Amino acid sequence: PVADIGVVGLAVMGSNLARNLARNGNKVAIFNRSPEKTEHLVVEHPEAEFVPTFTYEEFAASLARPRTAIIMVKAGAGTDAVIDELVRVFEPGDIIVDGGNAHFPDTIRREKAVRETGINFVGAGISGGEEGALNGPSIMPGGSDEAWVTLGPILRSIAAIAEGEPCVTHIGHDGAGHFVKMVHNGIEYADMQLIAEAYDLIRRGTGKTPAQIADVFAEWNTGELESYLVEITAEVLRQNDAATGEALVDVILDEAGAKGTGAWTVQTALDLGVPASGIAEAVFARSLSSQRGQRDAAVGLPGPAPAEHEGFAHDAETFVEQVRLALYASKIVAYSQGFDIIRAGAAAYDWAIDLGAVSKIWRGGCIIRAQFLNRIADAYAAQPDLPLLLAAPYFAEALGRAQDAWREVVTVAAASGIPAPAFASSLAYYDGLRADRLPAALVQGQRDFFGAHTYRRVDRPGVFHTEWSGDRSETQES
Ligand code: NDP
Repeated sequence: PVADIGVVGLAVMGSNLARNLARNGNKVAIFNRSPEKTEHLVVEHPEAEFVPTFTYEEFAASLARPRTAIIMVKAGAGTDAVIDELVRVFEPGDIIVDGGNAHFPDTIRREKAVRETGINFVGAGISGGEEGALNGPSIMPGGSDEAWVTLGPILRSIAAIAEGEPCVTHIGHDGAGHFVKMVHNGIEYADMQLIAEAYDLIRRGTGKTPAQIADVFAEWNTGELESYLVEITAEVLRQNDAATGEALVDVILDEAGAKGTGAWTVQTALDLGVPASGIAEAVFARSLSSQRGQRDAAVGLPGPAPAEHEGFAHDAETFVEQVRLALYASKIVAYSQGFDIIRAGAAAYDWAIDLGAVSKIWRGGCIIRAQFLNRIADAYAAQPDLPLLLAAPYFAEALGRAQDAWREVVTVAAASGIPAPAFASSLAYYDGLRADRLPAALVQGQRDFFGAHTYRRVDRPGVFHTEWSGDRSETQES
């Protein structure tokens, strides 16, 4: 055996990851179901000195023990097929890593099944797309402590570096890594939607062109909003379409696609009872955009008068700054909700997840990488069991600074008929959390009325029910 790690699946992600591994001092065995991809990679990248293999037996024989293989194939049935093959040729103590976008319940199931053979199974979320796979992704591995001993140094060698630290940490057992990767993607949906709403409001509110708004985002990228997504937003807005000469953003069909990880995040949040409303609005906003038939059916529905509609901001620069503050505040909400999902998931699945460590490995390599994550890391360093991220002193101060502008922007959006679902729901969430009293009291009353679901009282302990269909006296339940 000559290789210290293997990669199975040599489409764009797998081949880039294999090259990254080779460049960082690993001898890499490679295998792909169709041999052409293997041959192609060897020919294209002689510098990597890959160990090409063409059967699973050959692949296993080329690996030093404990054998370690990273699977980068199409998530779902493809992953199961490859796991079956590797289990057949590997031995107890070996390590199978699934680096694809598996849903965490699948990872929990696979880990359990593979563990019974004595082989380690590690579900590892990998973020950063093709570029990240090649030059340094953010990696979120789950799996056993035993596997991490071997795997840790290898993954550290290929991960992105942020402030001198590799963007990888052992997240927790079995499905914890894919769970955290899922939430990363949910936050990514929210971040993108918030940026899109900011763009739309500025465009319609000030009449600025996409190129001028590119300048706004470039400027924002020098401050507290500094992030990869804000940076690429400026790039996209600045791009002109060669065919028409128009801004590219104006010729792209306004229907956003999705591969499902945002929906998984929201479904999981619902299952865990976590109000991840900003993330949910972002997922719904993509769904709405793609409902062409319904959008066509809604054409002509009344909206506010056109005079209030376009170019309504009397002072463009003030409005742009208000939108920036609203974006920052809503972003704090989205991250706070995301970390709540992780906290609730860790409790439900018995994972010891270090939330501060998660924020640190998202500082580089992944799509949501941002300066902002340092503030989150600081908040968890100061208080590891922080119950509510947005109430940490730094964020509470930032929200206090932003809230007037945030309210103004949501008001203007509603008055002008501009959809800003993520801005608005984030603000409603913030106000809901802050409220002294919520109308949930009335909801409990209604529930008790029609379903005898009972209620608790503010003034004494116990569980109560009003005899709604009788004399309306109150009884205390035993
Ligand atoms: P694809 O998801 O397009 O999958 C193609 C690869 O899967 C090929 O190597 C293919 O082999 C292999 N494959 C499919 N079915 C089987 C099977 N039944 N048995 C063996 N091999 C099979 O590749 P990507 O590189 O885009 O992504 C790989 C993984 O990484 C996916 O899980 C994806 O979700 C995840 N990911 C992708 C990102 C991206 O930006 N693209 C970002 C982060 C994660 P063959 O050549 O023989 O067809």
